[in-house]
Amino acid sequence: MAAEKYVYDFAEGNKDMKDLLGGKGANLAEMTNLGLPVPPGFTITTEACRAYLTSGNEPPSLAAEIDRHLAALEQAMGRRLGDPADPLLVSVRSGAKFSMPGMMETVLNIGLNDESVHGLAKQAAGAEGLPGGAGERFGWDSYRRLVQMFGKTVREVPGEAFEHAIDEAKRRKGVKQDLDLDAADLRQLVDTFKQIFAEHTGEAFPQDPREQMNQAIQAVFRSWNAERAVLYRRQERIPADLGTAVNVVAMVFGNLGSDSGTGVAFTRDPATGAQGVYGDYLSNAQGEDVVAGIRNTISLEELERLDKASFDELMRIMRVLEGHYRDLCDIEFTIERGKLWMLQTRVGKRTAAAAFIIASQLVDDGAIDLDEALRRVRGGQLGQLMFPTFDLSSDPEVLARGIAASPGAAVGKVVFDSARAAERAAAGDKVILVRRETNPDDLPGMIAAQGILTSRGGKTSHAAVVARGMGKTCVCGAEAIEVNVRSGQFTVDGHAVREGDVISIDGTSGKVYLGEVPVQPSPVVRYFETGEVGDDPLVAAVDRLLAHADGKRRLGVRANADTPEDAARARRFGAQGIGLCRTEHMFLGERRELVEALILASTDEQRQAALDALLPLQRKDFEGILAAMSGFPVTIRLIDPPLHEFLPSLEELSVKVAVAEAKGEDPGHDAELLTAVRRMHEQNPMLGLRGVRLGLVIPGLFDMQVKAIAEAAAAVRSAGGDPRPEIMVPLVGAVQELEAVRAEAEQLDGVKGIPIGTMIEVPRAALTAGQIAGSADFFSFGTNDLTQMGWGFSRDDVEGSFFSRYLELGIFGVSPFESLDTEGVGRLVRIAVEEGRATRPDLKIGVCGEHGGDPDSVHFFHDAGLDYVSCSPFRVPVSRLEAGRAADNR
Ligand code: PEP
Ligand code: MG
Repeated sequence: MAAEKYVYDFAEGNKDMKDLLGGKGANLAEMTNLGLPVPPGFTITTEACRAYLTSGNEPPSLAAEIDRHLAALEQAMGRRLGDPADPLLVSVRSGAKFSMPGMMETVLNIGLNDESVHGLAKQAAGAEGLPGGAGERFGWDSYRRLVQMFGKTVREVPGEAFEHAIDEAKRRKGVKQDLDLDAADLRQLVDTFKQIFAEHTGEAFPQDPREQMNQAIQAVFRSWNAERAVLYRRQERIPADLGTAVNVVAMVFGNLGSDSGTGVAFTRDPATGAQGVYGDYLSNAQGEDVVAGIRNTISLEELERLDKASFDELMRIMRVLEGHYRDLCDIEFTIERGKLWMLQTRVGKRTAAAAFIIASQLVDDGAIDLDEALRRVRGGQLGQLMFPTFDLSSDPEVLARGIAASPGAAVGKVVFDSARAAERAAAGDKVILVRRETNPDDLPGMIAAQGILTSRGGKTSHAAVVARGMGKTCVCGAEAIEVNVRSGQFTVDGHAVREGDVISIDGTSGKVYLGEVPVQPSPVVRYFETGEVGDDPLVAAVDRLLAHADGKRRLGVRANADTPEDAARARRFGAQGIGLCRTEHMFLGERRELVEALILASTDEQRQAALDALLPLQRKDFEGILAAMSGFPVTIRLIDPPLHEFLPSLEELSVKVAVAEAKGEDPGHDAELLTAVRRMHEQNPMLGLRGVRLGLVIPGLFDMQVKAIAEAAAAVRSAGGDPRPEIMVPLVGAVQELEAVRAEAEQLDGVKGIPIGTMIEVPRAALTAGQIAGSADFFSFGTNDLTQMGWGFSRDDVEGSFFSRYLELGIFGVSPFESLDTEGVGRLVRIAVEEGRATRPDLKIGVCGEHGGDPDSVHFFHDAGLDYVSCSPFRVPVSRLEAGRAADNR
């Protein structure tokens, strides 16, 4: 059997081989084959990496294969690695399938050692344009960069040790700039660096270039499992077993004098999508100088003045690349003595706004069609564009930066504890809760606050996870902030911010501002509200792509709404009905008294009186919603939560009664209430008397609701509307429950013709869906409860408790309450769809849990054959877009 092929010359690959060659390698190969000026090199595959990580050793055939490719490279370049007279130098660069911060990036100048440094210096000195002695300087500078980069990234020598030594050298010489160190200084610095290397590693700096290369390659392999890389993958849901490729590339030098330099460029503005040429250039520099910000870069327009030929060539190549990739490309390039080299290209990252604008522009340009444009935007991006943003035109001062954990723009007064936040919010203040980190006890304050700021923790910290769940703005891990709860203040660089001071936090950028920054509403939301496109290119692009998605999608999109206002908004946002109208809140406020009377009723007459009083109120509720959604279906769910939720808390009431009794007073009504509360108290109300169980236990309750629905529909119809109510029974686990409710409902006037269906939210319902479908006109998956009962996770507690640990451990990459667990809970869904439709082929099936607005879950529901998803009004556009994308059958 032929040995596995682990190494590909750039000429052997192409852009579609990212799995094997990584993004960088695949694109270097593509550029090579396009005839663009790419320094020669080869790519070691992700398969080699995987083999290394599994066994702890390189595959046996790898070394010989690298040798062969190296020999070819030496031949192409006319130089030999380690040649003391004229050495070939190479860079070793990582490149996974997805670009991934946290991994080892690059080691430049491999091949230099105590001997070849002289050869390099001599070759460089022979170059034109370098002043006397500059060749020497160049040689030693290149060598010190190698020892530094190799030490730091391959052998984990602390970077500060090297930086400190450079500072020390400059201090001794009395100069400020690295460029002021001459060849002798740098030669000495190389000695110091080698000493630092030996001290930290216990070994001498390797002199054998092939050994340098080997160690660098293995370090790239290992960096796949570096802590930051692992964390990043979890967050971005990148599979952990892909491995990285390694690119070995002949060095070209941007630091060979003023006719050399290095830069980055974009074919369009990645922030706004505007067409043009964007980029930065640094003359006489190597790649890492640009990143390190050692000197200020110049714009590409200035490069045009500096080196017109290279600039023109760069423009030509950028046009070639955009035409070829049919997308925004970002590019790294180097100019070596007036010769342009391409070091990297990829389809560039962009902001959410730019994604929409660019996709639409490319359609106008004829580069892609609308289907392709739709593939290039995501629901998550549209969701981001619907948050308000700060108006930064006044250039407010940034107080601190943290991790952008949950998007939005929040302004409020600083508070440091949860109870205080709740208190001030109740008094009408807008507050920002500032904590070192949050824990479940902070929940009331998090709910009360406009936004949350923490000084510790990352994207999966408690604060981040909970805030995202609540759709609340959150910046976490703002490390410059010192929170001192005791003294009621936080400090940043000595500046104190006290309780009550106003701050503004940007959950999209992670920035924290002192004072109030004006908030501007999203233009995209304005467009949904008004239907006016105007001349904003972003709005025009969103409008165009959503229209295309609507034309493609098979899934209907409804909204979860339980007020006429929400229903009307959902309609403006494109909802085709209501998939879940919860009726619980209709029992709150001044109606509490009636519910109390219902619960406390000791005779049928008393109970009926309470129900009779509730009926007209409910009818009015439904009339409003049915009218707002005239012409579209409205699924009204009969009351779901346990009735005791409408009564005072056991603790409070016990204290009240005890106090009254202690004072010798008659607790009166409270004593009666207390008895009822005790009677109804449940250890685990989520698994208790709620949903259909309640309807079967409290006579007349469901009947009252059903009657209200039928009467409301009649009223809307006689007013000229087109009401389309559907009655939904919650928490059904057995067909007999549904049969009992249906039998009773059908006795009532006006119910004939109103579809009666059930939620599928108890695992048993999913598993017996074949039977249940016999009595149901429709199913709607309650994936919140189905997840709760499928996993056995309390949906009200776990997000704030052990979920962050579970996320850290990678048990799941995202909360199953946020994105459907397709393997487990999703299996229940598939079973129910299949068995339900086997009984009743025309069974209409939707979903109304939170997952109906989650992009990945929408794709799953499309695949599973559902008819519609239902989500909160604000998510409706996101689900429309994703449903269109899911229908893409390419
Ligand atoms: C569900 O369980 O998914 C659901 C929609 O119902 P609720 O969230 O009201 O329990
Ligand atoms: Mg439910």
